[in-house]
Amino acid sequence: MTTIADRISIAQSRINQAAQKCSRSSAEISLLAVSKTKPISDIVAAYQAGQRLFGENYVQEGETKINALQADYPDIEWHFIGPLQSNKTKIVAEHFDWMHTLSRAKIAQRLHEQRPINKQPLNVCIQVNISQEQSKSGVNAEDVAMLALTISSLSNLKLRGLMAIPTATDDIQLQQQEFSQLKQIFDQLKQQYPSVDTLSMGMSGDMDIAIANGSTMVRIGSAIFGER
Ligand SMILES: *Cc1c(COP(=O)(O)O)cnc(C)c1O
Repeated sequence: MTTIADRISIAQSRINQAAQKCSRSSAEISLLAVSKTKPISDIVAAYQAGQRLFGENYVQEGETKINALQADYPDIEWHFIGPLQSNKTKIVAEHFDWMHTLSRAKIAQRLHEQRPINKQPLNVCIQVNISQEQSKSGVNAEDVAMLALTISSLSNLKLRGLMAIPTATDDIQLQQQEFSQLKQIFDQLKQQYPSVDTLSMGMSGDMDIAIANGSTMVRIGSAIFGER
């Protein structure tokens, strides 16, 4: 039976191999462990294996876990990666270190206003809808610049980059096309904003192709914690 520690080490070697294949340094690529729906004991097991970055999708579940773990594990970095309604922004502003799914100016404004003054600015990524599926959330490619401008004017937010969830498909060519489109938008944004350094793309099923296209953060859930 493999343990969480084994699977973290396997995920890390997949990152190393994928990076090596495209002549990138694996030091540029962070592993975000997506612990949604999984118990606190799993997070502790991952922590003990050296994992420090954790991603949660649901506001209340994330808040509960952060409250339970913060005192004993203050060096965990908490990333919110789920859809966020405007009436729940306060919980994210008060508890999380990162927010990956920003796609509305109104939410940005609220997160800015609700960020406690004793905390560092909230690190944010703009979620881009690069998928063919209209139902997916995120801003369209042509609206990234406008939202970036709004975020950059809000002192309690720090614009770190872009995030995307590509079309769920086995079509490698389509995946490749979507990831490389996101990389292009990312490179443009990076030229304008020196704080931009994060391209959050790649999950358990598509991390290799994401890394080949410049991902700097892969979000891995099931490959570490098992199926949900
Ligand atoms: C659940 C989730 C992941 C992790 O997906 P796996 O396929 O379990 O690796 C990554 N990103 C987001 C936004 C998610 O909701």
